[in-house]
Amino acid sequence: MEMLAKTKGEEFQDAALRLFHIAAEHLHLDSGIREKLKWPKRELTVHFPVKMDDGTIQVFVGYRVQHNVTRGPAKGGIRYHPDVTLEEVRALAALMTWKCAVVNVPFGGAKGGVRCDPKKMSLRELEGLTRRYTTEISVFLGPESDIPAPDVYTNAQTMAWIMDTYSMHKGYSVPGVVTGKPIALGGSLGRKEATARGCVFTIQEAARELGLDLPRATAVIQGFGNAGSIAAMLLHELGVRIIAVSDSRGGAFNPKGIDPTRVLEHKGKTGTVATFSEADRISNQELLELPCDILVPAALEGVITKENAPRIKTRIMAEAANGPTTPEADPILFANNVYVIPDILANAGGVTVSYFEWVQNLEMLHWSEDDVNRRLRDIMTRSFQEVREIAAKERVAMRTAAYILAVGRVAEATLLRGVYP
Ligand code: GLU
Repeated sequence: MEMLAKTKGEEFQDAALRLFHIAAEHLHLDSGIREKLKWPKRELTVHFPVKMDDGTIQVFVGYRVQHNVTRGPAKGGIRYHPDVTLEEVRALAALMTWKCAVVNVPFGGAKGGVRCDPKKMSLRELEGLTRRYTTEISVFLGPESDIPAPDVYTNAQTMAWIMDTYSMHKGYSVPGVVTGKPIALGGSLGRKEATARGCVFTIQEAARELGLDLPRATAVIQGFGNAGSIAAMLLHELGVRIIAVSDSRGGAFNPKGIDPTRVLEHKGKTGTVATFSEADRISNQELLELPCDILVPAALEGVITKENAPRIKTRIMAEAANGPTTPEADPILFANNVYVIPDILANAGGVTVSYFEWVQNLEMLHWSEDDVNRRLRDIMTRSFQEVREIAAKERVAMRTAAYILAVGRVAEATLLRGVYP
């Protein structure tokens, strides 16, 4: 019988499970606990209509998956993308559980997604889609139960619509139901920059360990959304030479260096970084293989595979994206001495400041940006060192070490709570 090829979402889901099992093995987890931690707690699929600008009604499919809520409310972003599937959202929800545990914030893991092409939709259509999707998944949502945030192609405005829709149903304002909101609605200072800033803190730790002098280093960034563009900016401020950047339409390469602020301006005007005139055009594939000191995949999952991994020529790879590396690529990078800072550590700054935002909302007070950044630095460097120590002690890669730390924390919480009833 011919085997059907796995979809990208199924492969991603398998990859997340494989990493979990490796950690479970190291921790000698009992098979019952292992089974409990591997399955998502709840999954919701919704089909819902949206009235489009041309008067037609279009039906969209959306998901919200809560992977685990043992350590606290379910937490995780919502993405809008044409390739969203239940399997992808499931994998991303599991990643959120492990990510929150790595940085030890008291949240479980969740993720949401709507299959749509936001680039082809008007603002009004996106608002309609967001409000109806929020209503459909509202059985899950709440500041004590499930708290969304931005992810791929969603932003502070999307969160404002979610907050408003949820609040209208309740009859009073509930800022703590989402994070990554606009500052004027109770968003936290520093949240927008947090994923990139946290990622850069981990790069600084790795560079220190390798004796890499950042003002002499070069960096390549794949993806120019919230994480990628701000990571480029922050690295540039530290004196790192950004030699290439890209987005979904292609990349721009200049070995002499690219000023990310000018690229951002260009993208604002033209919609892409690929046509930036002070650089040569380059494909996303070529970009990943450029010799550099720091590579930051900040786009989508599954871009570093067993095919291109042997040609990756960087010293540090900091995964600002979720799941950019396939399991087959990992051992190749390890053998080639690429210092991989895994996603659940490298991009955990986003959810860390989401946690700060949620705390500020519940306490109805505001922290200064300095306060937010200082606390973020403390958590990121401490978590990095905890993962580093496990990697050294167990003689494993940073990714395995991060999973050992995360799965160990969730397993401990599960055992302490016991099985109900
Ligand atoms: N979407 C981000 C992530 O993948 C942030 C999640 C959050 O802040 O809840 O980590």
